Amino acid sequence: MQSTLSAPEAPTAAPALKYADVRNYVGGQFVPGDGPLLDVLNPGDGGVIARVPLSSSAAVDKAVAAARKAFRGWAETPIKERVQVFYRYRALLERDLDELSRLIVEEHGKVYSEAQAEVLKAIELTEFACSLPQITAGEVMEVSKGVECRVDRYPLGVVASIVPFNFPSMVPHWTIPNALALGNCMVLKPSELVPLSAGRIAALLAEAGLPAGVFNIVNGAQEVVEALCDHPDIQAVSFVGSTRVAQAVYRRGTGNLKRVLALGGAKNHILLMPDADAEMASSNIAASMAGCTGQRCMAASVLVAVADTDALIQRIVAQARAAVPGEALGPVISAEAKARIERYITEAEQGGAKVLLDGRNAAVPGCEGGFYVGPTVIDHVRPDMAIAREEVFGPVLAIVRAADVDGALEIENRSPYGNAASVFTESGGLARYVAERASAGMVGVNVGVPVPREPFGFGGWNDSRFGVGDLTGRSSIEFWTRSKKTTTKWNREAGVNWMS
Ligand code: NAD
Repeated sequence: MQSTLSAPEAPTAAPALKYADVRNYVGGQFVPGDGPLLDVLNPGDGGVIARVPLSSSAAVDKAVAAARKAFRGWAETPIKERVQVFYRYRALLERDLDELSRLIVEEHGKVYSEAQAEVLKAIELTEFACSLPQITAGEVMEVSKGVECRVDRYPLGVVASIVPFNFPSMVPHWTIPNALALGNCMVLKPSELVPLSAGRIAALLAEAGLPAGVFNIVNGAQEVVEALCDHPDIQAVSFVGSTRVAQAVYRRGTGNLKRVLALGGAKNHILLMPDADAEMASSNIAASMAGCTGQRCMAASVLVAVADTDALIQRIVAQARAAVPGEALGPVISAEAKARIERYITEAEQGGAKVLLDGRNAAVPGCEGGFYVGPTVIDHVRPDMAIAREEVFGPVLAIVRAADVDGALEIENRSPYGNAASVFTESGGLARYVAERASAGMVGVNVGVPVPREPFGFGGWNDSRFGVGDLTGRSSIEFWTRSKKTTTKWNREAGVNWMS
């Protein structure tokens, strides 16, 4: 439809790079950023594929002004009409599934099947937004004779969404379809490490008929985030990323009296019971720790092995070994991430832990510049070691031993994080016991990655989430709207009292 939008990058590419310089998206136009350019790397080979502007707060001002301008018209469009854009958008995601998946492979390093799964999840999130007219229908009740109360939901205005590197398409879709379908206008701040997918999202939304200014992108880093938290015309800020930055964004945004929901990092524990089904446990746990190269906030990070589970651990190691770097396992995001992950492994080994499967110094022929770390399993980790306490964010499973389930729960409960926890057992009663006592917002029973699917909301506890409610699913409706209560009396005989 709008062919000028199909290529979000400027035609003035640095000649040697595959993609032109990434642009911001403001008021329906791709425009150059106003800051220095940062190289965007393909983590698979370390090559530079594009450059992204580190925009200033002035760029945020322009995007917010464009969003403000669009807000009234968009908010006054009935929700049933607004979601028509997302029905069309969903079809475009499906049409471009292959291209969008390949872009994720390139800028993020995921293997193709993982990248495709990410776009399919973006489609599912879009489908949920299409159902919002049905879910958000207001309430009405006769509260006294002849007196009626009704509740309607209104959008907030201009909202901001700040996203991390690990899902260049899915995490933006946690917020974009719902916030927009509910009538808000948005400024998205993509991760500067993976800024290309966001441009495609903008182009496809425009092709689907989204009015100019409803969705905007400002590329950059800390300065843009701080400007979004400070801007007086932004009503709400959602954030997904590390706990350190989530806390800073939550403090700054709420300090400016904004509504903020900030999802942080994770340290997910899996409790492995001796009665677990060997095949189900080993395949699920290996997939959880190595899938997406461990760069998932839902990844298994600590395995709390209860009592005699040696044979199960051997099977997990065998399954994990099959995740060969460069084949089933993509690279991590950067050279710094690789160095950080390998440092955790080395420190644990030096502290007395036993490396059962060693992913350090992984080499992929033909991709020598890539940032690969192989699957790593380390046994006899002590709960006080850094690798057991801190977020490693790589394909690393630290095994801590516990004598019984209460000891295992004590270890899990001590973690400051609280995104996910799982238990592998054949006992329903024990599964329930763990589910009730785990200190996490998302619990799995014989599931390594217990992601709640729509309409259930995604969100953790403790240091994994700051703010009230969840970011996706039904719970997101509260976050992206405010309710208005109207009390009506038409008939004189209803009388007057202090409640009516
Ligand atoms: P990050 O916190 O480094 O970056 C997230 C966003 O914040 C990016 O857009 C980045 O540009 C910006 N940012 C970075 N440093 C900043 C600073 N000092 N001030 C202001 N803004 C800043 O996170 P990441 O490395 O991109 O992503 C990985 C992290 O995200 C992991 O901790 C992972 O667990 C977490 N994550 C959490 C969830 C969840 O649902 N809880 C989901 C996905 C990822």
